[in-house]
Amino acid sequence: MGKYDAMWEKLNIDLPAHEGLMEVLGKFYGDIYLSQQGRLQGMEYLDLVLSEIHGLRVKELQEAKQLQGRKVIGTFCVFVPEELTIAANAIQIGLCSGADAGKEQVEKLIPRNTCALIKSFMGFKLARLCPFTESCDLIVGETTCDGKKKAYETFGKIAPMYVMEVPQRKSEQDRALWKAEILRYKETLEKLTGNTITAQSLKKAIVIVNNKRKAIQRLNKLRVADPVPISGRDALLINQVGFYDDPERFTNQVNLLCDQLEEKIARGEGVAPQGTPRLLMSGCPMAVPNWKLPYVTESSGAVIVGEESCVGTRNIRDLVDESGQTLDEMIDALTDRYLKIDCACFTPNSERVDNILNLAKETRADGVLQYTLLFCQPYAQENFRVEKSLQDAEIPSMVIETDYGMEDVEQLKTRIEAFVEMVK
Ligand code: SF4
Ligand code: SF4
Repeated sequence: MGKYDAMWEKLNIDLPAHEGLMEVLGKFYGDIYLSQQGRLQGMEYLDLVLSEIHGLRVKELQEAKQLQGRKVIGTFCVFVPEELTIAANAIQIGLCSGADAGKEQVEKLIPRNTCALIKSFMGFKLARLCPFTESCDLIVGETTCDGKKKAYETFGKIAPMYVMEVPQRKSEQDRALWKAEILRYKETLEKLTGNTITAQSLKKAIVIVNNKRKAIQRLNKLRVADPVPISGRDALLINQVGFYDDPERFTNQVNLLCDQLEEKIARGEGVAPQGTPRLLMSGCPMAVPNWKLPYVTESSGAVIVGEESCVGTRNIRDLVDESGQTLDEMIDALTDRYLKIDCACFTPNSERVDNILNLAKETRADGVLQYTLLFCQPYAQENFRVEKSLQDAEIPSMVIETDYGMEDVEQLKTRIEAFVEMVK
C-alpha cells in the first residue's frame, strides 16, 4: 500500500485509475521539466510540490480541516477573491482542469463540443481522480462564459457548488452588481466557516495576496533579461503552483528563486543563448498539467518570455489598494481591483488589447502566440482583434487552437518552427 493510499481512499478516490494518472503525470513531468539543462536550485521546491501534488499538499489540507476546523474552497477562475477566503480563515485552491479525464462520462452530461477545461473539471470529479476536488467544502464558480455557466448547473448536482455572477460590462451598474456579489461571497464564507471577516483580518489577507502577486511581478521583470534566465515552462509552473500552495510559503520560495535569478543574470547566464527568439503566450488559461504548447514552443528554438493569461500576468498585474481602513473601503478596493481583470468575457474589452501590446513591449517579444482552447468562443472571437492590433504594431502573431490531446503535437511543432524562423 502506498504512502497516501489510505488518505485517498478516505477521500473516495478511484485508486487504480489514480495510480495510472500519477504514472503518466510523472513521466510527462520528467520529459518536460526535469530534462531541462541549467535549472535553478530553487526549482527543487516546485519539483517537490509537483511530485507530491496529490500527497503532501492534500495531507496538509486534510490536517487543516481536521485539526483546525478550516474549510477548503476550490475555484476555477481568478475572479474569486482569495483575500476574502483567507480573511475567513479558509484555504483557497485553484482546481486544475488541464488534462483530459473521464471524457466518456462527461459527454453523457454536457455537449461534446465544450472546451477541454470545462470537460476536465467535470471529468476529474466523475472519474474520482482529484483529491483536491474531494477536499473542497465549497467549489466557487463564476458566470464568465456560457459554457461554464451551464456546466455549473450540472456540476452542482455532484459537487458543493456556489456561483458568483461576474458582470459582462464595466459601467457603474456593473460595478454595483460586482460589489454585491463580493458581499454575498463574504456572507457565504462567514456562514460556512463560522468566522466573521473583520477589517483587521481582511487587511492582513490583502497584504498576503498582494505579496504573492508582487513576487511573481518581480519574477516577470527578471525574465526580460537576454539571455533569458528562466524557461517559460518553469515560469508557468511557478504560476500554476501559486494556485494551490500555501500563499506565504509560495511567496517566500518565489522570492528566493528571484534572488538566484538576479545572481544568474549578473553572471550573464541564461537557459538559452542570447538572441534566442522571444515569444509571448496570450489567451486562455493553462492549468496543471497543460504544458503541451510551452514544451513544443521551447523545443522549437524559442523561449517564452511572458504569459498574457490568467495563469500568468492577468492574475497578478493589478494589486489591491492597501490604504483602506474600514471594511467597506476594503470591499471597494477589492471590487475595483477585480473589475480590472480583462477577461474575454467582457464587452467591450479594449483594455486587453492594450495590455497585450504593453506586455509585448515590456518583454521585448519578437512575436505572440495566441493560445485558444478549441470551442472557446470568447477568446476565439477576440483573436481577430488582437491579431489586427499586433499587425498594426508590427508584432508578428499566430493563433493556435488546440485542446489537451497529444495528436496534434507534430503539426504544432511544424507550425511553431516556421513561425520562429519568421520572427528571427
Ligand atoms: S480567462 Fe476569464 S474565465 Fe478564465 S480564468 Fe481568466 S478570468 Fe476566469
Ligand atoms: S476556455 Fe473559454 S470556453 Fe472554456 S471555460 Fe474558459 S472562457 Fe469558457
